Amino acid sequence: LDKKVNQNNWEKGNYINYKKMSENLSIVRRRLNKPLTLAEKVLYSHLDEPETQEIERGKSYLKLRPDRVACQDATAQMAILQFMSAGMDQVQTPSTVHCDHLIEAQLGGAKDLSRAEEINKEVYNFLSTACAKYNIGFWRPGSGIIHQIVLENYAFPGALLIGTDSHTPNAGGLGMAAIGVGGADAVDVMAGLPWELKAPKVIGVKLTGQLSGWTAPKDIILKVAGILTVKGGTGAIVEYHGPGTESLSCTGMGTICNMGAEIGATTSIFPFNDRMYDYLKATKRQDIGDFARAYSHELREDEGAEYDQLIEINLSELEPHVNGPFTPDLATPISKLKDVAVKEGWPTDVKVALIGSCTNSSYEDMSRSASIARDALEHGIKAKSLYTVTPGSEQIRATIARDGQLQTFEEFGGMVLANACGPCIGQWDRRDVKKGEANTIVSSYNRNFTGRNDANPATHAFVTSPDLTTAFAIAGDLRFNPLTDKLKDKDGNEFLLKPPTGIALPERGYDPGQDTYQAPPADRSTVEVQVAPTSDRLQKLSPFDPWDGKDATDVPILIKCQGKTTTDHISMAGPWLKYRGHLDNISNNMLIGAINAENEKANSIKNVFTGEFDAVPATARDYKARGVKWAVIGDWNYGEGSSREHAALEPRHLGGLAIITKSFARIHETNLKKQGMLPLTFENPEDYDKIKTDDKLDMELSNLKVGEPLKVTFKSTDGKSWSTNLLHTFNEGQLEWFRNGSALNTMAKKAKE
Ligand code: SF4
Repeated sequence: LDKKVNQNNWEKGNYINYKKMSENLSIVRRRLNKPLTLAEKVLYSHLDEPETQEIERGKSYLKLRPDRVACQDATAQMAILQFMSAGMDQVQTPSTVHCDHLIEAQLGGAKDLSRAEEINKEVYNFLSTACAKYNIGFWRPGSGIIHQIVLENYAFPGALLIGTDSHTPNAGGLGMAAIGVGGADAVDVMAGLPWELKAPKVIGVKLTGQLSGWTAPKDIILKVAGILTVKGGTGAIVEYHGPGTESLSCTGMGTICNMGAEIGATTSIFPFNDRMYDYLKATKRQDIGDFARAYSHELREDEGAEYDQLIEINLSELEPHVNGPFTPDLATPISKLKDVAVKEGWPTDVKVALIGSCTNSSYEDMSRSASIARDALEHGIKAKSLYTVTPGSEQIRATIARDGQLQTFEEFGGMVLANACGPCIGQWDRRDVKKGEANTIVSSYNRNFTGRNDANPATHAFVTSPDLTTAFAIAGDLRFNPLTDKLKDKDGNEFLLKPPTGIALPERGYDPGQDTYQAPPADRSTVEVQVAPTSDRLQKLSPFDPWDGKDATDVPILIKCQGKTTTDHISMAGPWLKYRGHLDNISNNMLIGAINAENEKANSIKNVFTGEFDAVPATARDYKARGVKWAVIGDWNYGEGSSREHAALEPRHLGGLAIITKSFARIHETNLKKQGMLPLTFENPEDYDKIKTDDKLDMELSNLKVGEPLKVTFKSTDGKSWSTNLLHTFNEGQLEWFRNGSALNTMAKKAKE
């Protein structure tokens, strides 16, 4: 394990440290003296202090040293702005930035890309100069989606990577722990601080049997999402194991890990196997594959390792699934879809079918979908629905252009979009239906919350495999089951589509396509980072005020949110994405998607000082101008969805003090702490029902202590009051963040000491 093997083909001198990982594991083994899961091995081999670290799943906070950081362009802006304010001359952990989120789908790949380059010029210039300055690898617009680029270039078995995007776990398909974090966590690691994570529980998913026919790797996670629901993975790593893992392609395993984000899992991971070796070899990293083989005994679970929960899935019996609408855990097997769709009154016309995205854009996915499209073409028919194809990377696009799948999609009536997120994140200039019109779209993406793709709350978005997405495009109908239902060819004769076929890795190797990577220059001292003071898209940050040391009294409730409040509800994407680097401007979207329990409307709340109903951000600005700090009341799993720290920065910027909920999604809870906010949960979730929106709160902040509940009194307008306990998960270091005003203030203070 002494060999010097580079982590990737783009950087020199960033070696894979299996030796150190193995030494750390020996220390932990000696201390714990029990068989370990793979998830534990990967995490514990990255402990900052393996000798002294307290280790208990679900309890202790681990201090970890990730191997890498990856940021996408929307989240990188704020992360780098924060890193800059820490005053260092280069990142302390190898990092990359990927331009993928800001490209709007309109006319097709090349045109959309050049329009995006024009519109986002100042952001791309900022990121490109900041990356050059601080020694960060920069993947230009058009290179592809972050998770695909990471899988193709940077992921390696046993590694620990953090990424400022919730689908970072995609790289679990190459046997690494890849974890989605907020920008603030990325800043810590870029600055060389250890990264803190509550030791996750481990959910085992044992796979037996083998996939066949129309069933694809995606169906495994669609099924798991149905079992565990959007909350079920919270605080846990999902670890796949068992003989069924051997038959899945590396990219198929990536798909499964990718969508693990939808069940709230910290990450998902597969054990190292020959399919991963083959993928490493195909992506010109055979040396890494050989090195991983030498360390392979630590790249799978120990015999007898125990899981906190165990799910078993027999792949031979698994049916294709379609999940949705509006939530990714509403899983329906294809054999039942017709009946359910009719019973529920879902629009059955499939208006648009979209394949690709970071979840499903591998060579295998593309060739399977192309085989279905070809079958239809051979019967003289094309896609009935609009059909879009998003290649995950320039390499995939160039390879399918060379090998003919891309031409098949075009012949089939498809539009090939840029190698970017596009409609998956609402970057979609959709024109085929009007806003508010109920309609159905089907995609091979991962996420289908209300309004995510096209900002139309009446769009019923379903997620499924690319195979079924393509089949729905042909039939144009959600009631279609390609396993049993016949189609009509151009002459009216009936035929059954053939089950898809496709190969995992291109026989002629990958075509790298255009060169889209910018390496940091050898001399970085003369590089100037470009941020215009007049910009409405980028704004340098000022530190938040520290806590005044006093208890909080008469804190108004800004909004009592009803039902699901995702990070999309708290900080909407779509058109707002362009203000990601400008905190004041983007704060005008704060909580505008959340439903007010008082009137069941979005973005309409009563100002407790004026009695008038107004928009949420305007009301918060009014409270801030009055010098009044406010609180938000939330339901279960508040902040689920994505890692965006804007959902925490915005309430802090507009004067928020506390977010009080029945429960939090992990990343959002940490993000709130980082920005100096108080994420609190009800000791009795029924208290939520007792709260009236015009109640005011007294909070004994001077009694805020690790492991102890916080006493809060709710006072109603009729003079009555009641007290209750709120829980929190702050540890001592995190309480410092609250006292100093933010984690970044704490870092800056420590750097000065
Ligand atoms: Fe992009 Fe969608 Fe993947 Fe997120 S989930 S990285 S928005 S393609």
